[in-house]
Amino acid sequence: MTIRIGSTALTLVQGDITQQEVDAIVNAANSSLMGGGGGDGAIHRAGGPQILEECKVYVAQHGQLPTGEAMITSGGRMKAKYVIHTVGPVWHGGGNREEELLSNAYHNSLKVAVENGIKTIAFPSISTGIYGFPIDRAAKIAVDTVKNFVGKNRSLTEVRFVTFSQSDYDIYQKLLTS
Ligand code: ADP
Repeated sequence: MTIRIGSTALTLVQGDITQQEVDAIVNAANSSLMGGGGGDGAIHRAGGPQILEECKVYVAQHGQLPTGEAMITSGGRMKAKYVIHTVGPVWHGGGNREEELLSNAYHNSLKVAVENGIKTIAFPSISTGIYGFPIDRAAKIAVDTVKNFVGKNRSLTEVRFVTFSQSDYDIYQKLLTS
């Protein structure tokens, strides 16, 4: 499904983030940038060793990536030319600025995309797998943060939400159409 905000399409698909034909896919990474489980592992497997090499160079120069921040590498062997790596918060019950940090992860990923001339970008549902963020609250933050960003910045033509499960799809669909 698709909704439009100004010149940007917000789209929702159920599928595999590694297979998306967009300029950039977002990786829900961890601060070490050394890969991990879930979508992070899938992206490194699909993209090949080039991505990890670039992450190692970044960490050597800048140190670990703080929660809520974002950085960019190539997409290796994937169709997407770039991967934007961001670190969502681990859910500790909501009293540790989790909502603000999750919003920052979306906002800073979009900022890095615009800075790199990216027009189309796909997000997984950051923090809602291994990091345990409740999906209803996380999806609302994702949709609100993206809507707010594209309302102020016209350069992205598509922001795609990619959910793994049908139940997550349904939650995003309600938020996008409300
Ligand atoms: P985090 O560590 O930030 O919680 P995860 O990758 O564990 O990140 O999970 C985030 C979301 O991404 C979950 O909803 C999970 O089901 C989903 N996910 C895992 N693998 C993929 C994939 N290949 N494509 C799309 N979504 C995925």
